[in-house]
Amino acid sequence: MFDKILIANRGEIALRVIRACREMGIKSVAVHSTADSDAMHVRMADETICIGPPPSTDSYLLIPAIISACEVTGAQAIHPGYGFLSENAKFVQIVEDHGLTFIGPTAEHIRVMGDKITAKDTMKALGVPCVPGSEGGVPDLETARMVGAEIGYPVIIKATAGGGGRGMKVARNETEMERAFLTARSEAKAAFGNDEVYIEKYLTTPRHIEIQVFGDGKGGAVHLGERDCSLQRRHQKVFEEAPGPCITEEERARIGKVCSDAVAKIDYAGAGTVEFLYENGEFYFIEMNTRLQVEHPVTEGIFGVDLVREQIRVAAGLPMSFRQEDLVINGHAIEVRINAEKLPNFSPSPGRITQYHAPGGLGVRIDSALYDGYRIPPYYDSLIGKLIVHGRDRTEALARLNRALGELIVDGVDTTIPLFHALLQEPDIHSGDYNIHWLEHWLEQALKPS
Ligand code: ADP
Repeated sequence: MFDKILIANRGEIALRVIRACREMGIKSVAVHSTADSDAMHVRMADETICIGPPPSTDSYLLIPAIISACEVTGAQAIHPGYGFLSENAKFVQIVEDHGLTFIGPTAEHIRVMGDKITAKDTMKALGVPCVPGSEGGVPDLETARMVGAEIGYPVIIKATAGGGGRGMKVARNETEMERAFLTARSEAKAAFGNDEVYIEKYLTTPRHIEIQVFGDGKGGAVHLGERDCSLQRRHQKVFEEAPGPCITEEERARIGKVCSDAVAKIDYAGAGTVEFLYENGEFYFIEMNTRLQVEHPVTEGIFGVDLVREQIRVAAGLPMSFRQEDLVINGHAIEVRINAEKLPNFSPSPGRITQYHAPGGLGVRIDSALYDGYRIPPYYDSLIGKLIVHGRDRTEALARLNRALGELIVDGVDTTIPLFHALLQEPDIHSGDYNIHWLEHWLEQALKPS
């Protein structure tokens, strides 16, 4: 086992990893920018090292600075968290070339899954059901029109190098194709430096269902059921739950096995998420994330496992500590993402926290790097905390969420907390009757000035 792990991240996820390290008796090293000198992950780690100025391109994304920080502190392994360098195959290669261990899959697996066309081809070949669409990239408008006519409108044009919900455009009919195709291409070029796009059938009322998988890197793998992350704004998740309210035990077992078999076949190592759209009882693969997800705590809640601990164990060459038959669902878990954002536009709201009070009690978990007096810097993601509740069933989890939200105080900046209070008033949230467009529609109505 490692003696010391460096965490190439910040915020709540850095704390999450530090906590796992401490429970395992491993020393942790926090890296930080000058804007984060007072951050909680810096306060909690065993050692800290400043790696650059505020912009993440000059600090959290700066590969030489991270590698040097390992050399200076003697850390043997790097946990990337999510975002930043977590899905950067070049970084993983450099880490390995320096004799360090990357806590996650191989550079090759990241490369394959990072290119969405290759990912889709790979998954299809492994027997995973995919959304109907173009065979690979679509080079020009003429081909785009042919694909549209073939699979039928509406279609969605997506960037091969896409991520974070960017570079996607819907064409509802042939007339809309030209504009959608050209905008998607130019946005993809601007956002990812790669203008290759592909086309998929646009599903109109799907849910977002993702399967958590875990591989030992030696041909063994399990699945940990699904998460339903259908409540999204601009393709960004805001509320996640497990198990999915509309997934039956048979469906879970079937799609779960398809996913765990697929990752086992490629000797995948560590945590991964296979994302699907789910409509009319069918699953359609959209992408695989080769890292820990923001919403992993809901899975930990219902299975009673520690996914970060497991990632570290597998990276250290130890066998997985659970088998498929050990993984039994207990109750229901829900996570809401607390962002420092001002409603109704969700504009970033950095600033000083004048008062912070975290909820507690049975079945309540809060993963947050906030503290009284903390100043949220304006340079990074607006996620400031995640409130996760666990109950014996969905009804109890929702009641607990309502109770915990009532105890949570975050003063000094605007947050998305009022959004969740409002959502809990909605019958559709209680019945679980929503798809990936529900929240956008609801926001249009709810936030309309009257
Ligand atoms: P990203 O990597 O940018 O997050 P994804 O491929 O995971 O992109 O898609 C993000 C979201 O976009 C999905 O959760 C869904 O809301 C929407 N989406 C993607 N593909 C389709 C599709 N074929 N039909 C309808 N919605 C889609």
